[in-house]
Amino acid sequence: MFNLPSFRLGRLFGIPLEVNPTWLIIFVLVATTLSFTYYPGEFPGRAPWVNALSGIITALLFFASIIAHELSHSLVAKTGGIKVEKVTLFVFGGVAQMEEEPAGPGREFFMAIAGPLASLVLAAMFFLAYVGLSAAGVTDIVWAPFQYLAFINFWVALFNLLPGFPLDGGRVLRAVLWGIGGDQLKATLWASRAGQFIGYTMVAVAVLGVLRGSLDFIWFGLIGWFIAMLAEASYRQQLLKATLEGVRVSAIMSPAPVVAPGSMTLEELVEEYFLGGRHSRYPVESAGSIIGLISLSDVKRIPRDEWATTYVAEAADRDLSRLLIDGGEAADSVLPRLTTPGPGALLVVEDGRLVGILTRADVVSRIRRASI
Ligand SMILES: [Zn+2]
Repeated sequence: MFNLPSFRLGRLFGIPLEVNPTWLIIFVLVATTLSFTYYPGEFPGRAPWVNALSGIITALLFFASIIAHELSHSLVAKTGGIKVEKVTLFVFGGVAQMEEEPAGPGREFFMAIAGPLASLVLAAMFFLAYVGLSAAGVTDIVWAPFQYLAFINFWVALFNLLPGFPLDGGRVLRAVLWGIGGDQLKATLWASRAGQFIGYTMVAVAVLGVLRGSLDFIWFGLIGWFIAMLAEASYRQQLLKATLEGVRVSAIMSPAPVVAPGSMTLEELVEEYFLGGRHSRYPVESAGSIIGLISLSDVKRIPRDEWATTYVAEAADRDLSRLLIDGGEAADSVLPRLTTPGPGALLVVEDGRLVGILTRADVVSRIRRASI
């Protein structure tokens, strides 16, 4: 659901601001909780429309506070020369997308701490506004939102400081471990484990709540699940990057692949290559040169009764601009070509000759060997 296209709100400090449609879920949840539970409970006797309006305004200011938190991360990143793609509000809050990771632990530390600091400053400002206005005798309809915003921004800061990746506190932890040990990958591993621990603890709290008949912690549990998933994914990504750094495609490919002749029928191909063969795709050759790649799914696209009369060359994927790759290219740069929906394998050429085939499995086995 996070793949839904986001709406562009505009730009702040040169950074595009976007809202994902999933954000509406959390906005409605926060606004209704404020309007129907929080305000009627704290300030009884108010007209329902006053509570509703207060709820909506407070929710909007809350999300403006989240944007300020994310912008704060982004601005520190920008001053460090890191390009910020955009800031997006979505169902679990806000996220600032950067084009690259910070180059050193110091930069990462300041980038990470900037968000919670912004939330703490906001909490202090809202608190002062609330105390000042209530002391001046202004009606609670005016200061009640500030009181709530002081409280919620304080909690946003505290929650984000929990020391587990991908929370800000986890990034701080990673920066500190990275700074002490000098090993970014190991630091990521520990921060990610802490993140998974925090995430699954939140899930456990929600499950316990449900067992005791309370649905109050469902949202908390969902956020925990999301944190645990992200923690693991970010470690894997770091591992991938570290493992493939400086490695060439020719070093991780499967060399000397078995080649299927384009003049063969699909019937023959299935019998002689796919049945009993070890591979699920083969480079296709015609008149001494490579013309494409054939996989079992290419074959399945042709009706069964046409297999005897269809040639491999006709059914093969022949988009060579997409399939061919030079053996000298850097392995990490070809990853996007393997992970996005596509042929699932690349044909490795050197000096115009086919020297190997590179599949996702090759990359995975390389990573497995490196991580033992
Ligand atoms: Zn943050």
